[in-house]
Amino acid sequence: MTTIIDGKLCAKKILDKLRNKTAKLEKKPSLAVILANNDESSKLYVASKEKTSNSLGFESCVYRFDKSITQGELIKLIHELNENPNINGILVQLPLYEHLDSQEIIELINPKKDVDGFHPINVGRLNCGLEPYAICCTPKGIIKLLKEYEINLVGKNVVVIGRSNIVGKPTSTLLMNENATVTLAHSKTKNLKEITKTADIIVSATGVAKLIKADMVKKGAVVIDVGINKQSNGKLIGDVDFDKVKNIASFITPVPGGVGPMTIACLMENTYELFLTQNGLQDAKF
Ligand code: NDP
Repeated sequence: MTTIIDGKLCAKKILDKLRNKTAKLEKKPSLAVILANNDESSKLYVASKEKTSNSLGFESCVYRFDKSITQGELIKLIHELNENPNINGILVQLPLYEHLDSQEIIELINPKKDVDGFHPINVGRLNCGLEPYAICCTPKGIIKLLKEYEINLVGKNVVVIGRSNIVGKPTSTLLMNENATVTLAHSKTKNLKEITKTADIIVSATGVAKLIKADMVKKGAVVIDVGINKQSNGKLIGDVDFDKVKNIASFITPVPGGVGPMTIACLMENTYELFLTQNGLQDAKF
């Protein structure tokens, strides 16, 4: 029988814990979010992050900019937020307007406030097997989901499809750190089906709707679908042909309701953990 992994429930558990812990704090964790693009999905993501943050009792502020924002103004804001002791986490919603240099902005964020875990110091620490100040939210959420469902990773053949800096690469690193044997596939990979067929666990993060078909999946494999693809009717679907693959997989995440809610829960957890670290408090880990 196939288990549909319930990301919403798992995320709720994390958020409930955070809400209880935050209620006992005198000073509250705080998150600054910068929105400097006009993309509708980004606006929705930022609104959802703000809402969740408020629901936990965190302090949150969103800086929304129109296209007239300059790189210099954004740099000045990052410096101010870095210096502000009342801000624990800084998140720059990507992509930025095209005229802005997002890499320069990310590298200016104090790594101790880099709530997304995108700063090269945090990425580098993760790759060296050292503890970063924050781990990228989606990859962290994927590992938490697998652990919540007691899916053993040690020695398992995992195929991650997609090699972005925000999902594919850090997910591969985290899985390797959990002693899985990882293959990282991408758009230039030849014979993808032959590779995915060998996988005990497939993680797909491509943004290609229904890329992963039933005949690409080994019976009993675990399938984690990170993709979010908007169809012409407005419906969101993943990278996986869910209705067919669910008959073959042992565990599978739905879209929506799988990885997505975990991303936001991990963002909140990162904010809380950065707050603790910056205030020299214990109990940072769950
Ligand atoms: P990117 O566009 O940055 O990366 C996509 C990756 O998929 C690239 O490495 C690309 O290969 C690879 N790829 C594209 N087409 C194919 C193909 N046909 N076969 C194999 N590999 C392919 O995307 P992101 O990593 O930012 O996001 C991936 C998906 O995950 C998107 O749908 C996004 O919306 C979603 N997402 C979901 C989140 C969540 O919380 N659920 C969070 C973040 C993202 P190459 O490098 O060769 O171009």
